[in-house]
Amino acid sequence: MRPSDLRTFAFCPRLYFFEVHLEKRITLVQRIKMLLGKIRHFILELRYEEREVEALGELFGRKVFGRADAVEGDYVVEVKSSRGPEDGAWFGDYLQASVYALVLGKRRIKIKYSDGERELEPDPEELEEVIKLFELVREGYVPPPKRSRWCSKCPFRDLCEELGEEGDGWFPRLPYVKR
Ligand code: SF4
Repeated sequence: MRPSDLRTFAFCPRLYFFEVHLEKRITLVQRIKMLLGKIRHFILELRYEEREVEALGELFGRKVFGRADAVEGDYVVEVKSSRGPEDGAWFGDYLQASVYALVLGKRRIKIKYSDGERELEPDPEELEEVIKLFELVREGYVPPPKRSRWCSKCPFRDLCEELGEEGDGWFPRLPYVKR
C-alpha cells in the first residue's frame, strides 16, 4: 500500500477505482499542473534539515511503502504546497501522514500547508476501517460516486455518469476534513 494513494481515495473512492483499474487519461494541462506541484513541493522540502524518511513496514497486515517528508521529535511532518481547510486537515492528508506515523512509531502528525500548520493525532481504529475500504476498491469493488463541484473537472466524469449512482448503501461517504 502506498500511503499517498489514500489521498485520492479520500477525495473520491470511485476516482481512485478508475485510476487503479483503468488507463489514466491525463490531459497536458493536468500534467503541467502536476509538474508545477512537484516543483513547489521540492522547494518547500529544501527548507528542512531532515529530509524524507522511508516508511517501510506493515500495518494491519498490509505492507506499506512510502516516504514521510520529515520527522521532528514525536511528529511525522507532511508538507503540502496547497492551502489547508479552515479548521483541521484534509482527510486524505491526515490518512497519509497517519500511516507514516504508525509505521514509524510516532504519536503525532503535523501537516504544513501554505497557510499554516495543523497538528493531529492518528486514530488507528478509524484508519483500519478506511484501509479496509481502500483495499476493497483496489481489489476491484466499484464504490459509489462522491459527487462534488470538482466532478466537472474529473477525467472520468463521462464514465462515472454512465455508471450512475451504483454502489451499495453501506459504503460510507468519507469526510473531506479531519478535525
Ligand atoms: S466524476 Fe466525481 S464522483 Fe465520479 S469519479 Fe470523478 S470525482 Fe468521483
